[in-house]
Amino acid sequence: MKILDGNTLSQQIRNEIKEQVAQYVAQGNRKPHLAAILVGENPASKAYVGMKIKDCEEVGFKSTLFKKEESITEDELMKLIQELNEDNNLDGFIVQLPLPRHIDEDKILLAIDPIKDVDGFHPTNFGRMAQGLETFIPATPFGIMRMLERFDVPTAGKHCVVIGRSNIVGRPMSILMSQKGGHANSTVTICHSGTQDLNKYTKDADIIIAALGQPYFLTADMVKEGVTIIDVGINRIDADNKKGFKLVGDVDYESVKDKSAYITPVPGGVGPMTRAMLLENTLLAYKRFFLQEEK
Ligand code: NAD
Repeated sequence: MKILDGNTLSQQIRNEIKEQVAQYVAQGNRKPHLAAILVGENPASKAYVGMKIKDCEEVGFKSTLFKKEESITEDELMKLIQELNEDNNLDGFIVQLPLPRHIDEDKILLAIDPIKDVDGFHPTNFGRMAQGLETFIPATPFGIMRMLERFDVPTAGKHCVVIGRSNIVGRPMSILMSQKGGHANSTVTICHSGTQDLNKYTKDADIIIAALGQPYFLTADMVKEGVTIIDVGINRIDADNKKGFKLVGDVDYESVKDKSAYITPVPGGVGPMTRAMLLENTLLAYKRFFLQEEK
């Protein structure tokens, strides 16, 4: 069994990004610049945005946080997005989700200029991804693909079962794993809450990508020997520690690990890769539209 260590790999990727940024800046260019819009006081959202800002500092990006009151109107938020779309000193920006109920998330995400959409949530970018064109791939699927590639996990011709069909993880994962290039070329089954007899699919799978948001859901009796397990889940469960909770995956790691050829831990697997890929997308935006290096 080989543990796919996302902490070490993401650190390596951050170091690579940092080196590239230092070179660009040494050549007289401005730094890559990422902005984040945070609305309200959701503690998880605040923590996520805080980590993203910290990551930017580590690799030498400029970052700007737009912190807005929960009471901001949709029109005010749309106006801010328009300003950021037009700001030539900004390479990319994200709107931290979820947004308050009175704001239409789809409308907001549609308003982001696709060339600055480093989260890759805009339908234009999603469509380009589906067609295998240059785009911004959403950070979590991008991180998983990068992990499979860098650890050289066999994927071609393998049966990959994705559990979950969300627009940010399951659905894009199923598309990417089925693509011919890019360390994929798998035969993909996508399972979801409407799937009957899920075990039938998971037991046949060479690769399982669990992204359903149910703690310890995938157990040893559901998988075959030699399986590769990618655990995307981040679930908060009560724990007897100072915080009163801990974060666990969608996979019952202890029971499944001995049957696996490769497995990601939680924490320290997909999570840190997701963080690194936002940086990679921002660097890509910078290269494309500021340096005009990439397509
Ligand atoms: P979501 O709630 O939007 O989607 C969950 C999907 O799972 C749905 O499509 C649903 O059909 C499916 N599902 C639910 N119960 C099921 C069951 N019993 N059997 C089969 N399918 C079932 O969730 P999401 O946003 O895709 O996130 C999934 C998990 O991944 C969550 O735990 C989330 O916190 C985590 N996540 C982690 C990262 C990361 O960086 N590691 C990033 C995004 C999401």
